Amino acid sequence: MLDLKSMTLEEMTSQFTDFGEPAFRGKQVFHWLHRGVTSFEDMSNLSKELREKLEANCFITAPQVERKQVSRQDGTVKYLWRLRDGNCVETVLMRYHHGNTVCISSQVGCRMGCAFCASTIGGKVRDLTPAEMLDQVLFTQLDSGELISNIVLMGIGEPLDNFDTVMRFLELVNHPEGLNIGMRHISLSTCGLTEKIDKLAQYKLQLTLSVSLHAPDDETRSKIMPVNRSVGVERLFESCRRYFEITGRRISYEYAMIDGVNDHDWQADLLVKYLKGTPGHVNLIPLNEVEESSLHPSRRIREFQKRLEKQGVTVTVRRKLGGDIDASCGQLRRKRMEEKTQ
Ligand code: SAH
Repeated sequence: MLDLKSMTLEEMTSQFTDFGEPAFRGKQVFHWLHRGVTSFEDMSNLSKELREKLEANCFITAPQVERKQVSRQDGTVKYLWRLRDGNCVETVLMRYHHGNTVCISSQVGCRMGCAFCASTIGGKVRDLTPAEMLDQVLFTQLDSGELISNIVLMGIGEPLDNFDTVMRFLELVNHPEGLNIGMRHISLSTCGLTEKIDKLAQYKLQLTLSVSLHAPDDETRSKIMPVNRSVGVERLFESCRRYFEITGRRISYEYAMIDGVNDHDWQADLLVKYLKGTPGHVNLIPLNEVEESSLHPSRRIREFQKRLEKQGVTVTVRRKLGGDIDASCGQLRRKRMEEKTQ
């Protein structure tokens, strides 16, 4: 069975030529799929014969809402979607002044093992497909009735560990015949896979690259992020510098503030040292407490922020949204997995 929604427009038109149909039929189907139509039956500009042929040879992905939570504090909506094979992933819809943003997942689970993150606890189950990534945007838009203008790849999974799928997803979601969401409205967050950062740089995309740094020294970073053990902070920054030189795009460094772990003055100073000469911006994140972890939110966010700012670094502190609905990614999926095993 063919997953038509994961195809690019070019692939779709050549597929329809193979079916013995004119190429423009491919474009018509591309339009329907990118509007979130869930059955060939509904594709009213196709002949009955063609619809039946598609029904017999292809499938259309359509995630089901397994759970949905709406924050009473700020209207943030969190979806737990059930995929075709029964696996679940999360998507969060956040409302900002500059427009609605969705935070989407790239894998079922994650194999990166960060100590503070709920998504990685059960390891990686599988990669998502391009259609399953696109569906999170399409179906969040359809279910909520809200137009989505921004996307962050900051949900469950490591996007650069599912590189080809993510590149294809970007092409699909950015396509003028599809949702047409501009690259400048998309952020991709990585735990710092340096070879993949170098590879991404070659595409010279206008998206924002966010690097989850969380500590500027190898001892701390390797403790909380196993990915650091093979590469190290020095090489990570070298790769970030190359990324900036090639793309001209400033990197945003994410830094989740953890009590007594990465919130010391000397760490702020070391961070400043690394950022000298590489235009970038630091986003301090209040740690979301994860039940299974012994790490706690820092009480020094303001001090840390001031220390960075005094030394010329641009810093923002992430506003906490959806605090009442487990909105930090991975937590809702975790809860459901626990319920299922009880
Ligand atoms: N794998 C990618 C994207 C998913 S995680 C990455 O590592 O960047 C998205 C962001 O949420 C990352 O910066 C991650 O470190 C952060 N994060 C994960 N768990 C968190 C928690 N409990 N509190 C605050 N931020 C967290």
